[in-house]
Amino acid sequence: MKTARDCLINVDMKALRFEDNKLRLADSAVPRRDGEALVRMTMAGICSTDVEIARGYADFHGTLGHEFVGVVEESPDRSQIGRRVVGEINAGCGQCDLCRRNDPRHCPDRTALGIRGRDGAFAEYLSLPPQNLLIVPDGVGDRQAVFTEPLAAALAILDQVEIRASHRVAVVGDGKLGQLITRVIAGTGCDLTLIGKHDAKLELAARAGVKTAKLCGAGLSRHVTTEAIITKAPRFDFVVEASGSSGGMELALDLIRPRGAIILKSTFRGAVRLDTSRIVVNEISVIGSRCGRFEPALRLLESGGVDVEPLVAREYRLADGVEAMAEAQRPGTLKVLLTN
Ligand SMILES: [Zn+2]
Ligand SMILES: [Zn+2]
Repeated sequence: MKTARDCLINVDMKALRFEDNKLRLADSAVPRRDGEALVRMTMAGICSTDVEIARGYADFHGTLGHEFVGVVEESPDRSQIGRRVVGEINAGCGQCDLCRRNDPRHCPDRTALGIRGRDGAFAEYLSLPPQNLLIVPDGVGDRQAVFTEPLAAALAILDQVEIRASHRVAVVGDGKLGQLITRVIAGTGCDLTLIGKHDAKLELAARAGVKTAKLCGAGLSRHVTTEAIITKAPRFDFVVEASGSSGGMELALDLIRPRGAIILKSTFRGAVRLDTSRIVVNEISVIGSRCGRFEPALRLLESGGVDVEPLVAREYRLADGVEAMAEAQRPGTLKVLLTN
């Protein structure tokens, strides 16, 4: 008997691909991997990582995109067929020590959707292992569910450090990820300040009930506003660096109290100059933080604990993906979405 998947063999689909150092909408084969599920993308989100890849800064060639919501067309797990899903983006080898310890995110042979060795979600169809997929609750719309992956990345911080209501916390960077992190950390009831450079984005966080501080000038370094924050004792117990700028780490060091912890969320292209003696003398913990678990993110969206709607900049059709990427690259743009 022919399955929906068989019908899709040899049929081309539209995909937004980065190839030969060029971003273009291309005809591409429907992705088929043994033992995996085939998902029809309904909505996808453009993230800074996609922008970096399309600028040629990352070593990835193929279909972009890792933030998506879609409908399962075919799966070895038949209970998934026809269901609306989101998907964990890392797929491990399944054999190594880390995979056996249920940590495929750090598997040395992992692939990652639209980032590493695996075509991504800016296409009509994508492929992922069935165990990577999570059913989206009915109460969570596509425009919310598409935020599951970045929201999970924000929530990862709370898995790594224990933030209590008595703590003073600063988030450096008012962009897409900084906004999500701010909303997640606000849920702890701590004394929270978002530090950024863009009036409109700081205003967005202020409307969500968060204190904000504006950095003046071109770079994230020492500024009038920062000095004002620094002189207030005590300094911050935790600083989350999500600015996407190499100056963010130096600012984090300005803000953190002795024996505090800096959580690094930005991935930079190239090296960051750092005065490590400040880390040593003040006994600062520096914690790298990447992807997070999807279930808590979906639960948070379902409960309405985080309102992601104000973070949407605009929706584009997949067919207009090149234009959408251009919009996403414009400084100050929030989340640009693609629909299929
Ligand atoms: Zn992302
Ligand atoms: Zn592995």
